[in-house]
Amino acid sequence: MSALLSNVPVEHAVVIAGGGPTGLMLAGELALAGVDVAIVERRSSQDLTGSRAGGLHARAIEVLEQRGIADRFLAQGQVAQVAGFALIRLDISDFPTRHNYGLALWQNHIERILAGWVDELAVPIYRGREVTGFAQDDSGVDIELSDGRSLRAKYLVGCDGGRSLIRKLAGIDFPGWDPTVSHLIAEVEVAGEPEWGMRHDISGIHGLSRMEDGGPVRVMVTEQHLGAASEPTLSDLSEALVAVYGTDYGIHSPASISRFTDMTRQAASYRNGRVLLAGDAAHVHYPAGGQGLNTGVQDAVNLGWKLAQVVKQTSPESLLDSYQAERHPVAARVLRNTMAQVALMRRPDDRVKALQETMSDLLGMEEPRKRIAAMMSGLDIHYDLGEGHKLLGRRMPDLDLLTADGPLRVFALLHDARPVLLNLGEPGGFDITPWADRVKLVDAKFDGVWELPVLGAVPAPDVVLIRPDGYVAWVGDRTQAGLADALTTWFGPPAAA
Ligand SMILES: Cc1cc2nc3c(=O)[nH]c(=O)nc-3n(C[C@H](O)[C@H](O)[C@H](O)COP(=O)(O)OP(=O)(O)OC[C@H]3O[C@@H](n4cnc5c(N)ncnc54)[C@H](O)[C@@H]3O)c2cc1C
Repeated sequence: MSALLSNVPVEHAVVIAGGGPTGLMLAGELALAGVDVAIVERRSSQDLTGSRAGGLHARAIEVLEQRGIADRFLAQGQVAQVAGFALIRLDISDFPTRHNYGLALWQNHIERILAGWVDELAVPIYRGREVTGFAQDDSGVDIELSDGRSLRAKYLVGCDGGRSLIRKLAGIDFPGWDPTVSHLIAEVEVAGEPEWGMRHDISGIHGLSRMEDGGPVRVMVTEQHLGAASEPTLSDLSEALVAVYGTDYGIHSPASISRFTDMTRQAASYRNGRVLLAGDAAHVHYPAGGQGLNTGVQDAVNLGWKLAQVVKQTSPESLLDSYQAERHPVAARVLRNTMAQVALMRRPDDRVKALQETMSDLLGMEEPRKRIAAMMSGLDIHYDLGEGHKLLGRRMPDLDLLTADGPLRVFALLHDARPVLLNLGEPGGFDITPWADRVKLVDAKFDGVWELPVLGAVPAPDVVLIRPDGYVAWVGDRTQAGLADALTTWFGPPAAA
């Protein structure tokens, strides 16, 4: 979108600070729900210097498939068994999902594809400027931009990364653990022929690889001492390489050099009034297991439909409490498992090696492999929605249904991000007229086995209420007991007759 044209604040229902993977996904979700949303992004284009996330896990691929866009990513990446724990590979090819694998695809491609989708949904992106401040009142938020213009929105969402200004200005604490290890990651030219591949030695993990297009060399090296907070230089990289390899291979012409650490922190609250946080703005951790982008994208898919309903006033503001209640524990678990992985990948003295071997043995066993692999791939996420059927609060499987109009997959029903009441019992057995403007009622048949990751087969339900994020909000039998309450809780009170 072109520059803001005047000093009069431009109004949007929701403004997202930051158009990385989380902000883009959230924008798409809100736009699908018909909400007027805009992104403010510091970068002047979607281009990303340096490599960050290397791919998608199974649940993130499923989530994209729920919107009908997974194929765009699959077509450009490499399907592989990518789940792992502290470099111990975990195979998920026997998991009950269509995507029983991960996808190797660099973050710059993931962002480009997401940005293309958001563009199709006509979301304005104010590029090349930053959010520099905001003030909230009872009815909205005034948002200041670095070019002196301002925006007005009902809600502001900080998807502005680990150093989130939105989080700081909202006064939200970011407690956690200071870093203990730092790495330099860079794209450079080399004069000599380096030692290709990964090296795991007494000083940590390092690696050099040629980029896929024959471009620069990608370097990752553990620093001997915790790096300074300042931006790293070519001489820092040279020094770190010499310490490990005895040479810096004549590195020159860096396209990018950055530092990452195992700093581990999580926002104490994901919301302050009309200001919310998602993605790295809400949680940072060591990249082991490749979970950061995946978690941010799923934060966005959890928040999007809830915020849309609150903005449209079909649900009370209290629905937003469930965002923090559901997503904070998920990220807390990611933080915990990355800290465990850092401990396992420390400078490998004999004791750490013994611990690695023990973990490797354990993860070679059926049950531990399944549990940890389901956690790392996001397939075991269970929102605590109370007692009941095993499906409650878990991901709805992508079943092959048979409807009066022919075969249909469950995930196809979710493409427009609307809730679905899926009746697998007697057709016409349910009446949800007061919610018909919000909830799709689908009569279908499914004769197969209901199987969930880790849990295995579960009893076949007669009817399930599926939220737009693909999690099951209510499971019923032939009666309607509890259905009206569940519809009201999740999708707002019944429309007046
Ligand atoms: C070395 C490394 C490897 C990684 N590997 C993986 C992996 O394999 N798998 C995985 O899932 N994750 C991985 N991650 C983590 C992943 O990169 C992040 O979790 C992900 O980028 C978070 O997305 P985000 O949109 O929340 O934040 P970001 O990607 O940080 O995006 C924030 C955006 O906000 C913009 N911005 C910032 N401040 C402002 C402002 N004030 N106003 C406007 N715009 C602003 C920024 O320009 C940026 O575009 C890795 C990270 C690193 C460092």
